[in-house]
Amino acid sequence: MRLPALMPLRFYNTLTQQVENFTASDGVVRMYTCGPTVYDYAHIGNFRTFTFVDLLRKWLRSSGFRLDHVMNVTDVDDKIIRNAVAQDKTLADYTRIYTEAFLEDCATLRLERPERLAPATEHIGEMASAIGRLAETGHTYQTDGSVYFRISTFPGYGKLSHNDFSGNLSGARVDVDEYEKADARDFALWKAPKEGEPFWDTPIGRGRPGWHIECSVMAIQYLGDTLDIHAGGVDLIFPHHENEIAQSESLTGKPFARFWLHAEFLMVEGQKMSKSLGNYFTLRDVVARGYQPEAIRYLLASVPYRKQLNFTFDGLKSAATAIDRLRNFKLRLEGGGFAEGSNGQLATRAAQAAQAFSDGMDDDLNTAEALAAVFEYVREANSAMDAGEFRRDNVPGALAFLEYFDSVFDVLKPGARAGELADAQVEEMIAARAAAKKARDFPGADRIRQELLDQGIVLEDTKGGVRWKRK
Ligand SMILES: [Zn+2]
Repeated sequence: MRLPALMPLRFYNTLTQQVENFTASDGVVRMYTCGPTVYDYAHIGNFRTFTFVDLLRKWLRSSGFRLDHVMNVTDVDDKIIRNAVAQDKTLADYTRIYTEAFLEDCATLRLERPERLAPATEHIGEMASAIGRLAETGHTYQTDGSVYFRISTFPGYGKLSHNDFSGNLSGARVDVDEYEKADARDFALWKAPKEGEPFWDTPIGRGRPGWHIECSVMAIQYLGDTLDIHAGGVDLIFPHHENEIAQSESLTGKPFARFWLHAEFLMVEGQKMSKSLGNYFTLRDVVARGYQPEAIRYLLASVPYRKQLNFTFDGLKSAATAIDRLRNFKLRLEGGGFAEGSNGQLATRAAQAAQAFSDGMDDDLNTAEALAAVFEYVREANSAMDAGEFRRDNVPGALAFLEYFDSVFDVLKPGARAGELADAQVEEMIAARAAAKKARDFPGADRIRQELLDQGIVLEDTKGGVRWKRK
């Protein structure tokens, strides 16, 4: 179902602080979103942002755009190095565990894979050469083998976060040799190796990249100098996205992204859910308590992304009830038994409700408005059924509307039973096994086959590819 848009698709752009009409010149949306740091399991606050990105993808596609979306995987940083060294693992061995866990969690929440996942450690050479170019154009300085970006060389600094830094730029009298950084806001592009830490040998020296440079380099490499959309959580606006802009625009001389979209925090009892506050639940924690992944997805999606979402278990229960109401309505439609003919008024209501849903989504992904349109229609249709006024020819329109809703919200299809792997997770693991085989990592491939078998999934290698079934 594609409806004629009465109002154009529009988003709130953090850069301009305005709601703006969204277009993409050739129908392709070049989008970059900041991905996970794979040092631990992601918590549902993280997944609020990733669910927002999934809704954004699905709505852009529903609006007729094609997608070229890149998400990074930060697989080298201080915490990763600390944990890997403590566990006597290589970086690759340590981060593989949490990258796989992240992808499994995404599958559990029915989050689509971006067109490209870009691990930072596969782009170290490109990062080093970008830092080299920034050095040549005078944007950097070195201290003890580390390279810093000199903020004072980028006059636009602060334009995304709308912070005014003009008053506290560093004075010339600061001696960089005596200070680690010339200005408190300067940030590391490249970190010199410390004793016992992994490093890379590159033309700019030994070491490893700082966090910010990976996003600039991989976004430009795969999507070009100017992105259509850059998205992430509000906590990334400053300094991360501000630093991405400084690096990217100093490299290309062009605007880095046309639209900047930021999802608000997930709150727990008035505080942001975060690892450092210790008030977090991983997705696995919540699923282990018996909540359906669809209910978690629904709860995360139901509050418009620019509003803070207060997480409670009661909220999850209400989400499950809302999904049941829609599933029951669908069963009722499929059950038939309606009198012949069509109720013209209800047919009109179905069309209006679909339009209201679409208008809500076009309005900066106002999911609350879109959902209100769905439930209002379902309530009316249910009462029409109770009164014997719902007719056979109203069924296809009602089912089409539900399908339209579910092409974005994706909660109607029943998920796996508790403790059972979802189909999408099985597919992910089969893909991981194929990748391991291709890399001639046969023990790894066998391990995945065994893990699947332990979960009751039997694989069969056929000429046509891998088939699987539940025992
Ligand atoms: Zn980033």
